[in-house]
Amino acid sequence: MTTLQEIDLQCPICETSFRSRTVVSTNSFGGKRTDFHERAAGTQPLPFLIHMCLRCGFSGPERCFTEDVEVSPTLKERVWRELAREINTGSNPTGSEKYEAAAKVAEWRDMGPRYVADFLLRAAWCAVDEGDTEAERFYRRKAAWKFEEALASYDEVGPDERAVLTYLVGELWRRVGDLATAHTWFNRVHNEVTDIGTQQWVVDSAKQQLNSPREWFG
Ligand SMILES: [Zn+2]
Repeated sequence: MTTLQEIDLQCPICETSFRSRTVVSTNSFGGKRTDFHERAAGTQPLPFLIHMCLRCGFSGPERCFTEDVEVSPTLKERVWRELAREINTGSNPTGSEKYEAAAKVAEWRDMGPRYVADFLLRAAWCAVDEGDTEAERFYRRKAAWKFEEALASYDEVGPDERAVLTYLVGELWRRVGDLATAHTWFNRVHNEVTDIGTQQWVVDSAKQQLNSPREWFG
């Protein structure tokens, strides 16, 4: 079971204080999808690991509201201009909307493609749980491009992480339905292995998804 708790946050952009809910404890009894989407039995924790200010639209994990976040005039302006107007006052934002906004904030803060990609991946996972197939594909594509950007840059991804992220890019494209691109990425996985002892499972997973794809691990 997932346990949630109310927390008080203050927005670093507009200084509004608001109440949000966060995750105290959760579980992984719901299994793990082959894109690493771990599911809980009961309430899914993901939408509660990200918070949004409903006045200006600023979004991020709890630390973005509690630690000193450097707020440049440019960041402030972009949040007001691009996130504030997307707030739907009639309803609470969905998990995927919050993660998408967090991805934008991270990009504007120059946090690097790897960091941004992770929010987009989580937006896709939330869209799956929200039953929104179109949004799911949209976020998967954006996540795949960002992970590709991270892999292409010199120092974003450590050598030991390259194989697993290469696999993930393949899996994202497979789930979008672009099999040709997915296969290109799966075929690259074995070249990225740095330690076959600990990474054999990645090679095996890539082979599996290439030949006879599974939706869940295990
Ligand atoms: Zn705000």
